[in-house]
Amino acid sequence: MSKARIGIWLIGAKGGVATTATVGLIALKKKLIGDCGLVSQLSQFQHLDLPAWDSFVVGGHEIRAVPLFGEAMRLATEMRAATPELIARCRGELQRIEQRIRPGTARNVGPTIAKLTDMSLPEKETPRETVARLQQDIAQFAEANKLEHVVVVNVASTEPPVDVGQFPPTWAKLDSLLAKQSCPLPASSLYAIAALGLGCSYINFTPSLGAMPPAIDELALLRGARHTGCDGKTGETLLKSVLAPMFARRNLNVMSWVGHNIFGNMDGRVLDDPANKQAKIASKDHLLGDILGYRPQTLVTIEYIQSMGDWKTAWDHIHFNGFLGTPMTMQFTWQGCDSVLAAPLVLDLVRFTDLARRRGETGLLRFLASFFKSPLGVEEQCFDRQFQMLEEWAGEGKGI
Ligand code: NAD
Repeated sequence: MSKARIGIWLIGAKGGVATTATVGLIALKKKLIGDCGLVSQLSQFQHLDLPAWDSFVVGGHEIRAVPLFGEAMRLATEMRAATPELIARCRGELQRIEQRIRPGTARNVGPTIAKLTDMSLPEKETPRETVARLQQDIAQFAEANKLEHVVVVNVASTEPPVDVGQFPPTWAKLDSLLAKQSCPLPASSLYAIAALGLGCSYINFTPSLGAMPPAIDELALLRGARHTGCDGKTGETLLKSVLAPMFARRNLNVMSWVGHNIFGNMDGRVLDDPANKQAKIASKDHLLGDILGYRPQTLVTIEYIQSMGDWKTAWDHIHFNGFLGTPMTMQFTWQGCDSVLAAPLVLDLVRFTDLARRRGETGLLRFLASFFKSPLGVEEQCFDRQFQMLEEWAGEGKGI
């Protein structure tokens, strides 16, 4: 395994997914937990020269001043995602990581996310000045910790949707927009520009705009950097991408697919705002039509039910007909701990992305499609075929 020191820079470093990934990484380093849930630990990836757990250093950007250790303890006390003993054994390292978390930006994130902000963030910066400040933070992190490379992962709250078509297609033109206060790029894209402009890798685990504009993809290629996204596929949508191909391959006609989701963590609170919710629903809903080749009637609801905490329940009702036109029904209930499902995937994505860097890959990393609800640049939505792309990529490397 590679021992080069690699930085993981988490945008939203004190959120549920980030905190769980951080606790998990510390626990892996200390050998307090096993590797269940980690894709990169599967046997078909064992020949790869992936970074070792103890080669990672964590830092990040945030907009909330809450202590990281307190947020980690909440995973045990409120979220029932880990034991208090495990969190307590990670305390010292969590406190060291807290020192590496810097104020980020809440530019164009909409009122619901902006209301979460209790760190003092510079108010009068132009977007270009914001990008420069974010880059300075990441560069200092890399220098202070003698890092060979930094992978920036967006695990911040979901922003309201933004029309990607409104942005100029070339980096030169988008770059000139950064001088204007009126520039409509949201925070997720400024973080992406900051990361890719420095030659870092950028992973968008959220449905927010991030590196989606073609001009930002061009920036990645210009700087020899790489990016991937978007929106981690961890629960109900993962099941859709496994089950829908079954209906398609048995030539069963799906008439309607209804998915009701309830959960009560902070992500759920943000998604309770109809604008923010829209971005998530679009990301959860599109894949059925892509897999089946026709569009059944679909409904996706996401409701914030505070008592559920991090435990998301999805109830899906699939109405389909078969031979003789006979109607039938399949229903499933998924009860998953959201952060526990997402956190290992964040660590897997960082490991695979760093290996792609050492293999000389730049631009969009399509082989990571199986990790995302809306994989950028990939039409294939069937989980098994997406996973094959990852296995094929793993088989291609010569030596690494
Ligand atoms: P969370 O609300 O617990 O954490 C989000 C964190 O981001 C908070 O600490 C918040 O203060 C911070 N933040 C918000 N805007 C920011 C900004 N502009 N800059 C820096 N920090 C900012 O949410 P979560 O459950 O950790 O989920 C994180 C993201 O991952 C969400 O967008 C969610 O939709 C996405 N996601 C989660 C899952 C999953 O949990 N299973 C799956 C797919 C995608």
